[in-house]
Amino acid sequence: MLPRMLDVRTKILKDNDRVARSLRERFDAAGVFVVSLVSSPGAGKTAFLQKTLTVLRERYRVAALVGDLATENDANRLAQSGAPVRQIVTGTVCHLEAAMVDTALGDWRLEELDILFIENVGNLVCPSSYDLGEHLRLVLLSTTEGADKPLKYPTIFNTADLAVITKSDLAVAVEFDRPAALAAIESVRPGMTVLETSAKSADGLAPWLAILEERLAERESGVA
Ligand code: MG
Ligand code: ZN
Repeated sequence: MLPRMLDVRTKILKDNDRVARSLRERFDAAGVFVVSLVSSPGAGKTAFLQKTLTVLRERYRVAALVGDLATENDANRLAQSGAPVRQIVTGTVCHLEAAMVDTALGDWRLEELDILFIENVGNLVCPSSYDLGEHLRLVLLSTTEGADKPLKYPTIFNTADLAVITKSDLAVAVEFDRPAALAAIESVRPGMTVLETSAKSADGLAPWLAILEERLAERESGVA
């Protein structure tokens, strides 16, 4: 039965790519820049995003979609930033698909947004196969995880544009092997930009926002 299983999977991914393409066209037409975040569960996507939204809200029109298997807890946390937030409860599905993003956007007027963030379900495996129509994909790795995560999950690092090490404030306490983590990322994805951040102390937030603003400016000027 394996060939048939593969057929079904190929069809699902093809359908997803089609929806993702049309989403990206909509985002481009509306002039909204879309950033997605992927990581394993508990790596700190929501904390990182909450901090990001809080700062960006002063200068940009921002909103977020957040995926989880169950609960609206993360949407409630993100909404504390004051930005519009919608939860996507995926039930048994362990990743977001483009169609879920499409449905969740609902009546949101995209042309009234500058940046839309999409926090994926905590999972380092299947999110790598699903294009969500985003322009920039961040993969987060926390200091509390093994430094060899990039070696174990190379595909997700290969589909991401930027790596973010989170919880840098805990690095010493958990004996985070920083050189090993950086070497692992470099071996999987040579030249990948790596940001080291702490949502607690806000360390590393400024370089991240600078990269984001640079991308937004490139877009405005039609370079990217
Ligand atoms: Mg979360
Ligand atoms: Zn999945």
